[in-house]
Amino acid sequence: MSRGKVEIDDDRCKGCGLCIEACPQDVLEFSDDFNSSGYNYVTPENPEDCIGCGFCGKVCPDVAITVYKLQKEGV
Ligand code: SF4
Ligand code: SF4
Repeated sequence: MSRGKVEIDDDRCKGCGLCIEACPQDVLEFSDDFNSSGYNYVTPENPEDCIGCGFCGKVCPDVAITVYKLQKEGV
């Protein structure tokens, strides 16, 4: 299975939760914290399960998510 890496810009996130719904791997969860605008932002709780599908980034209305597709195991 392919692997990916997901990065979330905490301060862009508005906590809508669309990315959590979109992720087939249950990588993303709400954090226990709030960003500088007072939103409960999302964080990758299970980053090792990311397959780099990019669904989370496509649904994010605030362009807070960047997905990297990794070529090989361990890269
Ligand atoms: S790229 Fe796919 S597997 Fe990885 S966090 Fe986003 S939706 Fe989940
Ligand atoms: S879709 Fe974007 S704005 Fe909505 S919770 Fe996820 S990262 Fe935050």
